[in-house]
Amino acid sequence: MKRIYLDHGATTPLHPEVLEAMLPYFGQVFGNPSSVHSFGREARRALDESREKTALALGAAPEEIIFTSGGTEANNLAIQGVAEALSARGRHLITSAVEHHAVLDTVKALGKRGYAVTLLPVDGCGMVNPGDLKQAIRDDTVLVSVMTANNEIGTVQPIEDLARICRERGVYFHTDAVQAIGNIPLNLKEWPVDLLSLSAHKFYGPKGVGALFVRRGTKLAKLAFGGGQERKMRPGTENLPGIVGLAKAIELAVTDIPARSTSMAALRDHLIASLMEQIEKVRLNGHPVQRLPGNVNVSVSYVEGESLLLDLDLKGIAASSGSACTSGSLEASHVLMACGLDHQTAHGSLRLTLGHGNTLEEVDYTVATLKESVARLRGMSSLYKSYRREVDKSRHAGEETICITKK
Ligand SMILES: *Cc1c(COP(=O)(O)O)cnc(C)c1O
Repeated sequence: MKRIYLDHGATTPLHPEVLEAMLPYFGQVFGNPSSVHSFGREARRALDESREKTALALGAAPEEIIFTSGGTEANNLAIQGVAEALSARGRHLITSAVEHHAVLDTVKALGKRGYAVTLLPVDGCGMVNPGDLKQAIRDDTVLVSVMTANNEIGTVQPIEDLARICRERGVYFHTDAVQAIGNIPLNLKEWPVDLLSLSAHKFYGPKGVGALFVRRGTKLAKLAFGGGQERKMRPGTENLPGIVGLAKAIELAVTDIPARSTSMAALRDHLIASLMEQIEKVRLNGHPVQRLPGNVNVSVSYVEGESLLLDLDLKGIAASSGSACTSGSLEASHVLMACGLDHQTAHGSLRLTLGHGNTLEEVDYTVATLKESVARLRGMSSLYKSYRREVDKSRHAGEETICITKK
């Protein structure tokens, strides 16, 4: 059976050129970058070059890049690191209700340690309102963290506006840009962002490696203690194959973003339109326009998202309901709930995230498969049957009314 991968929001396949760039670092180039001999120097050179490439792709300086084990660690370092470094100045943090758990749970943990936390609400499309941020900032606010683009519904936030508000108020601004890299042009020379998280496996790089951008002069405490690696901010011998892979992947990811994201967005819009046309009672979640080029998130009434997922998987199609972390649990997505969906609608949600390898044929096959699956599942739903009866009744009622007025 041909398999179709529509879960690029969870992870992406490794780009062949990234694999090729990494291979020597699993083989002959094995030195420790901290060693002074030629083996070490060879590794150090690769580490330095990777840092330069990563910085260049972001519009940052090499010394502003700290390599981490991924997006989760980058978010933890940013939030806990700033909170601790500035704890004498203030203990108030602001984030949004739709963040990834790597941000939300970190902020919650700080809440238990005596920090005050404000969660900014979002509108029905998952957007944060800059006016709400302005109102939420207090004298003791030390950090605002709002994600660049949402992993579940794809909504892209007005990051430049939010960051500018923070800059004007002298408050640090962090953004989880894990989903944005390679999808949205992003330049840290122009964005007044102080800290930014990224993760290689979300842009065709390897898993287990990420980075935190920390603008020069930003106060940050470290979370782990040990060696002097990463300017002492992230001790431990570097994951050199991973870092080399991240650098190659980000170099490829930021090349030609406008052209590639335009064609992906066209495929996305075709998928959305086909779902809406071919299946009744489908609702698009997230923003219709300000959304990631590969993200489709829909609620299908009268079916469980999980049941749809299983059906799709049997047909070789990989999708997701909500985020990979919430699926498997019975809790409804906090993102969809924050957008104002009721529990039932949130449970009927399905996320299809496109990647560069997906084709029109795959998308059309997916829509046809979903249509069948929805019909089968609704056939077993008593709620759907009573809905249909209501629709038919009102249709008959409508006909009668027409007859009466005719008479
Ligand atoms: C995947 C993801 C993360 C976590 O990154 P890991 O490298 O898997 O730890 C954080 N934030 C967002 C928005 C993500 O999509």
